[in-house]
Amino acid sequence: MTQRKWLRRAICLSLCLILAFSAMVAWTIHRSGDPAYKIPATEHTVNDITRLNVTHVGREIQPTRLEEITTALRESDTPVSIGGGRFSQGGQIAYPESLHVDMRHYNKVISINTASNEIRVQAGATWRQIEEALEPYNLAIRIMQTYSNFTVGGSLSVNVHGRYIGEGALVRSVRSIQMVLADGSVVEASPDQHADIFYGAIGGYGGLGIITEATLSVVPNEKVEQQHKFMPTSEYASFFKNNIRSNHDVVFHNADLYPPDFTETNSVSWVRTNKPLTDTERLLPTNQTYRFQPWVIDRIAGSDTGKWLRQNFIDPLYFKRDRVFWRSREASYDVAELAPSRHDDVVYGLREFFVPVAHFNDFVGVMRKQFSEHNVNVVNVSIRHAFPDPGTLLAWSRQEVFAFVVYYQQGTDVESRNQVRTWTQALNQSAIDLGGAYYLPYQVFETNAQFHAAYPRANEFLALKQKLDPKNRFRNRLWDAHYLADAQELEEARTNTRQYYRGEEQTFLTIPEWYLVFNPKELADFLAAGKNPSDFPYMASLNEYWTQYDRVRVLTAGRYPANPQYLTMLRVIGISTTVEYMLKTAYESTIGRLTSWIGGTDTAEDHLIAQAQRAYSDLIYDKAWYEFSFLHWVKKIWLDTPFFEKNFTRKFERKLLFTAEFTFKAGYASLIGWASHTAYTPSDSFIYSTATVPEQSTALPATVKVIARKNEKTILAIPRWGGFTRDIPNLANAGIDFKDIAGNSRIALSIIGPASQSFVVASGHKLFNSSLVSRPDLQRQVWIVPVNKLGSTLREIQQQKAMTLEHIYDY
Ligand SMILES: Cc1cc2nc3c(=O)[nH]c(=O)nc-3n(C[C@H](O)[C@H](O)[C@H](O)COP(=O)(O)OP(=O)(O)OC[C@H]3O[C@@H](n4cnc5c(N)ncnc54)[C@H](O)[C@@H]3O)c2cc1C
Repeated sequence: MTQRKWLRRAICLSLCLILAFSAMVAWTIHRSGDPAYKIPATEHTVNDITRLNVTHVGREIQPTRLEEITTALRESDTPVSIGGGRFSQGGQIAYPESLHVDMRHYNKVISINTASNEIRVQAGATWRQIEEALEPYNLAIRIMQTYSNFTVGGSLSVNVHGRYIGEGALVRSVRSIQMVLADGSVVEASPDQHADIFYGAIGGYGGLGIITEATLSVVPNEKVEQQHKFMPTSEYASFFKNNIRSNHDVVFHNADLYPPDFTETNSVSWVRTNKPLTDTERLLPTNQTYRFQPWVIDRIAGSDTGKWLRQNFIDPLYFKRDRVFWRSREASYDVAELAPSRHDDVVYGLREFFVPVAHFNDFVGVMRKQFSEHNVNVVNVSIRHAFPDPGTLLAWSRQEVFAFVVYYQQGTDVESRNQVRTWTQALNQSAIDLGGAYYLPYQVFETNAQFHAAYPRANEFLALKQKLDPKNRFRNRLWDAHYLADAQELEEARTNTRQYYRGEEQTFLTIPEWYLVFNPKELADFLAAGKNPSDFPYMASLNEYWTQYDRVRVLTAGRYPANPQYLTMLRVIGISTTVEYMLKTAYESTIGRLTSWIGGTDTAEDHLIAQAQRAYSDLIYDKAWYEFSFLHWVKKIWLDTPFFEKNFTRKFERKLLFTAEFTFKAGYASLIGWASHTAYTPSDSFIYSTATVPEQSTALPATVKVIARKNEKTILAIPRWGGFTRDIPNLANAGIDFKDIAGNSRIALSIIGPASQSFVVASGHKLFNSSLVSRPDLQRQVWIVPVNKLGSTLREIQQQKAMTLEHIYDY
C-alpha cells in the first residue's frame, strides 16, 4: 500500500516536472528569435500568379510617361524584363538582375473613335479599364480572354484568344502598336508599316521591345443569352460544325469536358438576343469577395466525388437558370473567382494545346490516356475555337483549331514540377503530331525541338530579335530557353539528371540548419581554448538559432512556394536543441560549475570531451549528425583516461555526464537515422550546376565531375554540404563562372570578420548579421548573391583579407 502510494507520488512528481520543463522550453522558444525582422529593401523580387517563378531583379521602374521608358533603356545596358498583369506562369515576365519594367501604371485610355470603332490605349491598361472607358459609348472589346484583369501589352505579347466565335488570336483586332526598341527608339507598327515588327511583337513575349500603345478595333455592346447543351464528347465536334461555327449570332462559345473521364461535355454559347435582360449590370462590380467559386474549385480538385457532384448536380442546377446579359458584363470576370482558398503546397496551373479541328476526337483520346497515366488532377478542360492567324511569326493557330485549355492542380515541389514537365511534353508532342501546337505563356517545359515544330517560323522571329535587339537585352525565361543555341541541349541533360533542380527557398532555409553545425564548432573552439564549458553561452546560441529561423521564414513566406517539410524539420531540430541546451545550461551552471570550482577544467576527461566535440563538429560538415559514433567516445572516456587521479570529483563527474549525454545521443541517433532512411529517399550527395568552363581552365578538383558539355557550357556535379564550400572557391579561382546552381539564380553565403569593421560584398545584398555567441570580437554576415556573380564575389572576398568565407548554402 505504502509502496503504491510512493509510486503514485513519484509518477505525479515526474509528470509535474516534465510539464514544468516543457512549459519552460515553450516559453524559451517564445521569448527567443526575431519576430520583427523585415525583408531588406534590396530583396526586390518579381513573381507571377503561381508563385513558382520568384526572380530577383536588379531595378524596377513603374513608368507613367514614355520618356521614362526610353530614358531607362538608353541609360542602362542591363537585361530588361517586362511585366504586365503577371498572369503568365513560367517566368515570361522576369529575368534575374534585370531592369524590370512594370507596365501596370502606364495605363491611360488615349482616345476612342466611334466613327471608326477603335480605341487607342497605353499598354499597361487592363481590359477592365478599357471596358469602363467604352461603357458610355455602348461599345465592347472585340477579342480578349475570359477574364478582364490582363493588360493589353501582356495580352498582345501572348497574342491571346477568348471565347469569341468567328475570331481567333487577338492580332485580328489590332490595328497598330507603338513599340520602344532596345536602343530606346520609338516605332509605330501595323500590317502596312514595319509589318515585320507588328507580326513579330504580337505573340513575341516581350522579346523584341516594349509595346507602349495599341489601337484596337471595338464592336457594339449587345445583349446575349446563355444557351447550353450536355452531350457525349464524341458528338461535340460535329455539333460545333453544324450549329456554332458559322452561326453569326453566337458571340461567345466554349465547351467544358468533365474530368476524370472526359466522356461528357457541356457546350455553352452566348447568342445575340432581343429578350429582356435577366441581370441589368453592364459590368460586374469590382472588388467582390469570391468565396463560393474557389471553394467549389477546391472540392472539384479534392476528389472524384467533387468532380462527380459538379457534373451531376452543380452544373445542371447552374445552367437551369435563364441568363440574358450585356456582352461586356460577360467579358468582365475577375480572376479572383479562381483564387484558391489555400496557399500552401499546391497551385492551380494552366496548359493549352491547339489541335486542327478535324483531330478533335483523336486528341481527346490521347489527353485522357496521358492524364490517367500521370495521375493529373484536372479540374476542367475548356474547348475554344479559333480561325487562322493572319501572319504573326509565332502563330499558334496556323489553321483552324480547337484549343484545349487545361486547368489542373499541381504540387509546388520539384518532383511535382518534373511530373508536369513529363505529361506536358507528351501532350505537346501529340498536338504537334496532329499538326497543331501548344501555348507559350505557361511553365516553360517544352523541348527546343517541340518549340520549333510547333512554331515553324520561330527562326524568322529569332533572326528579327537578333536584328532589333543585337545585345539580347529583352530577356525572360522563355527566351532564355529558346534564344540561346545551346540552352535547350543542356536543358535536356539537366532534366535527365536526377535531383538537378532544387527549390531556391532552400538556400534560405538551410541557414538555421547550418547554424547547428557552426555552433558546435564554436563550442569545440571554446573547449580547445581551455575554457570552462560552464561559461559557454548555450542560451544565446538558442536565441541565435530561433532568430535565424524567424528571419528565413520571413524571407521565404509568400515569396516562394511553401516548403512545409523543411520548416517542420527546422522546428523539430530547433526544439530538440532547445531541450538539450536548456538541460546543459541547468547542469553546467550548477553541478558543472561546482566541480570545476573544486577541481578545475584541466582534467584528462575535459580534454577528451573537447576532442570528442571537435570530432563531432568536423563530421557534421559533411555527414548527418546521427552518423557520428557516439559510443566509440563513451568507450574512450572510460578506457583512455586514468580513473584515480587528482581532481577525482571533476573527473568522475565529467565521465558520468559525458557517458549519459553520449549514450542518450547514440540511442536517439539510431532512432533518427532509422526514421530518416524510412521516410526519405536518400538524398543525392551532389549539387549540380551549369557553368562556363573555359577549355584552357586548369583541371577541375578531383571531387567535381562533368555531366555534360556543349562548347564552354558544362554541367558540373559538385559535392554537397561542406565539400561544396570547399570546392566552389577552387572552381571560381580556375576562372569558372556559374550560370545556375541547382536551377537557381541566387545563393546565400556567410562571411566572418572582425565585429569592428564593416564589409561590402559588391554584387550581393546583405540579409542580416548574426552573432558568434562566444566571440563578441567577430561578426557573421549572411548575404545573397546572384549565381552568375558568385565566382567574382568569391574572388572579391579572398582579396579582402579581413573577412573569410564561412559557408555557401547549397539548397
Ligand atoms: C487564370 C488565367 C486565365 C487565363 N485565361 C486566358 C485566356 O482565356 N486566353 C488566353 O489566351 N490566355 C489566358 N491566360 C494566359 C496568359 O497568361 C494571359 O492571357 C496573358 O499573359 C495575360 O496578360 P498579362 O498582362 O498578365 O501578361 P504578363 O503575364 O504580365 O506578360 C505576358 C508576356 O508579355 C510580356 N509583356 C507584358 N507587357 C508587355 C509590354 N507592354 N510590351 C512587351 N511585352 C510585354 C511579358 O514580358 C511576358 O512575356 C490565362 C492565364 C490565367 C492565369
